[in-house]
Amino acid sequence: MADHYDVLGVERTATPDEIKKAYRRLARELHPDVNSAPDAEERFKAVTHAYDVLSDPGQRQSYDRGPQAGFGGGGGGGGAQGFGGFGDIFETFFGGQQGGQRGPRSRAERGQDALLRVEVDLSEVIFGTHRDLEVDTAILCETCEGSCAQPGTHEVTCDICHGSGQISRTVRSLLGNVMTSSPCGTCRGYGTIIPAPCVTCQGQGRIRARRTIPVDIPAGVDTGLRLQMPSQGEVGPAGGPQGDLYLEVKVRHHDIFSRNGDDLLCTLEVQMWDAVLGTMTTLKALDGDVEVEVKPGIQSSEVLTIKSRGVTKLRGGGRGDLKIGIQVVTPTKLDHKQKELMKQLASAHKYPAPSLGQFQQGLFSKLRDRFMNA
Ligand code: ZN
Repeated sequence: MADHYDVLGVERTATPDEIKKAYRRLARELHPDVNSAPDAEERFKAVTHAYDVLSDPGQRQSYDRGPQAGFGGGGGGGGAQGFGGFGDIFETFFGGQQGGQRGPRSRAERGQDALLRVEVDLSEVIFGTHRDLEVDTAILCETCEGSCAQPGTHEVTCDICHGSGQISRTVRSLLGNVMTSSPCGTCRGYGTIIPAPCVTCQGQGRIRARRTIPVDIPAGVDTGLRLQMPSQGEVGPAGGPQGDLYLEVKVRHHDIFSRNGDDLLCTLEVQMWDAVLGTMTTLKALDGDVEVEVKPGIQSSEVLTIKSRGVTKLRGGGRGDLKIGIQVVTPTKLDHKQKELMKQLASAHKYPAPSLGQFQQGLFSKLRDRFMNA
């Protein structure tokens, strides 16, 4: 195997800076995307490996000692950064914008949360439902796996701030010399530079893509409810952790059934004769058929309660009820024979004349009152 120093074309006494410069020059020159020579890729790998070893003070030391000295690199305290050592006392007391101690900022940041809206039918709410939601979002770049660098290349320490991400200056003030620092403009505070940014993501570590997110929407959700799905939001810059996804539910209006908490409400129209004589009927509920007994003499605005045929409770504990408000329908289109029968019926029984009663809100609100109290 070629000597790492030879591969990089530097002296054994080269400074970390010279090694880095040599690596950056060769990496640009040999990168497989720009160099089509048959041996370019091999050389590129060798250069990168040599840089890996020689840029790490510990690894470089053990490499210099030769293969017999098999002790690990230890320490790692290398790269004397220049700053930090001569901290002015005023920096300590007055912060000086938290100067050089803060260190470089991370490229990777947490991704943004995302909010999606999803509409469901009332029938889906009873037992819960499933959706595969298509989302335009940021996903991890598979080429660089979030490193932002072309595969096989690395970020290198910034020449200007020497990896601190900060440029420090000593400013004279009434209190003496105060150190201030600001983010390094060259590396934008990261402390490192990416010499060969990933081509796929333009060095962002993430790309925009359409992603399918399978979502189980639990039973019992209602309009306005937000479901939190941890770590299903955008991937952050430089492959940072995913934000959260919030799902805001809207339950579509249903023409027949409405909802009061976990109860389902509907109205059953009953013909006058059925109300008088009673009948059995089958009602098509959202979750299948329901047998309803209309007892003889049933009155308008009576409420029948079918236990446990409402919505499954969101936090467990069974289902609400199905509540059926009765509305007796007065026949209007009678033929001659029916009219005669009605007259016979009327004369066969002494009904009281229409009489005054207490004012009541319309049937609708009366029904609602009963629904609530049933
Ligand atoms: Zn990439």
